[in-house]
Amino acid sequence: MIMNGTRFWETKQLNEFSHDEWESLCDGCGLCCLHKLQDEDDDNAPVLMTRVVCHCYDLSATQCSDYTNRHIKVRGCTALTAARAGEFDWLPVTCAYRLRHHNLPLPSWHPLISGSKEGVRRYGLHALNPVMETEDIDLEDYLIQIET
Ligand code: SF4
Ligand code: SF4
Repeated sequence: MIMNGTRFWETKQLNEFSHDEWESLCDGCGLCCLHKLQDEDDDNAPVLMTRVVCHCYDLSATQCSDYTNRHIKVRGCTALTAARAGEFDWLPVTCAYRLRHHNLPLPSWHPLISGSKEGVRRYGLHALNPVMETEDIDLEDYLIQIET
């Protein structure tokens, strides 16, 4: 989807995006909906990714089940804003917000370029055999290696 005939993500800064442009930059990979672990006594400790997905995620629909209310419904669901994009160094290296924050190009499989969400599945949460969060799950049993 190229809005107004231009690659807006290349010509605008993140803080200049319209609401629709901002939303369309998300490729829908779902990787930010996976639980992460970090030593609570050390802010500089590495963030470890797991393949346990937030209980609010709908695996069959491949999206958040309540996107509108996500920040109210799930404590810890982080509001990603243009002003804070640089803070989220735990986002996957493929995250479009992270890429554009660092002025890097979007990959060819990004829906804004390919026109399809199909390519995202190979790079997103579904390629990691995700496990749904439950009350008794031990996140340490589901650590994965993912580039962040
Ligand atoms: S990691 Fe980035 S691109 Fe992927 S779903 Fe989250 S915000 Fe969207
Ligand atoms: S509330 Fe929705 S958007 Fe937030 S982490 Fe959970 S599934 Fe993802």
